[in-house]
Amino acid sequence: MTEPPRDRHRERRAQLAANLAALRSRLAAACAAAGRDPGEVTLVAVTKTFPAFDVRLLAELGVRDVGENRDQEAAPKTAACADLDLTWHFVGRLQTNKCRSVATYATVVHSVDRPRLVPALAAAAAHAGRTVTALVQVSLDPDADASDPGRGGAPPAEVLALADAVAAADGLRLGGVMGIAPLAGDPEPAFARLAELARAVRARHPHAAIVSAGMSGDLEAAIRRGATHVRVGTALLGGRPPPVR
Ligand SMILES: *Cc1c(COP(=O)(O)O)cnc(C)c1O
Repeated sequence: MTEPPRDRHRERRAQLAANLAALRSRLAAACAAAGRDPGEVTLVAVTKTFPAFDVRLLAELGVRDVGENRDQEAAPKTAACADLDLTWHFVGRLQTNKCRSVATYATVVHSVDRPRLVPALAAAAAHAGRTVTALVQVSLDPDADASDPGRGGAPPAEVLALADAVAAADGLRLGGVMGIAPLAGDPEPAFARLAELARAVRARHPHAAIVSAGMSGDLEAAIRRGATHVRVGTALLGGRPPPVR
């Protein structure tokens, strides 16, 4: 016996509405505990592995910022949602040969983590006739000299030079920094290191105020440490199958 599609739609909408309400109160509580205004924190709904239909439902529920981490999936999904006028964030590892595509739909790219990406993304933005806001992704691996092969990001010592390169590139606007806390252990020291780098970047580029930090499991710690953007998948959309590599 198959369920009528309209009921499935209604059920999924109710589930997403409940998840969103719970997440909004979690964000509000985290902001209250940190003495921050919830209006300072933008929720980016990370919809990877979930269908365009879920994006549509989230948009109906008031979500405006949506994130994806793979161009192969994001390109068709953003096209299917073009009528919704959403702000798309590219949050995944970016390959230079994907810049052309990503720059056509992403307003914010969170993952600039090496010098080679800067001219590639700048040229792609120019080609698309758009300005792309780019964040420098910082490795938050406690072994800070190496970039983090699992989670990505530039070594902290290279962040300022990378930020300067982004700021100088036509077609790009330096937005700030992004980090992913290591899987194991307390995320707070990692987010504290990110906050320190964010301050150093802002000292040179006062408009680069974005701190993209915090996911489903660690958004409270990120908000305590000054996150302006949290990237939330699981807590909003539910579990994902393990990634295929
Ligand atoms: C998937 C993903 C997220 C969301 O992670 P959840 O734990 O599901 O909230 C955030 N940031 C990046 C870069 C991601 O790839």
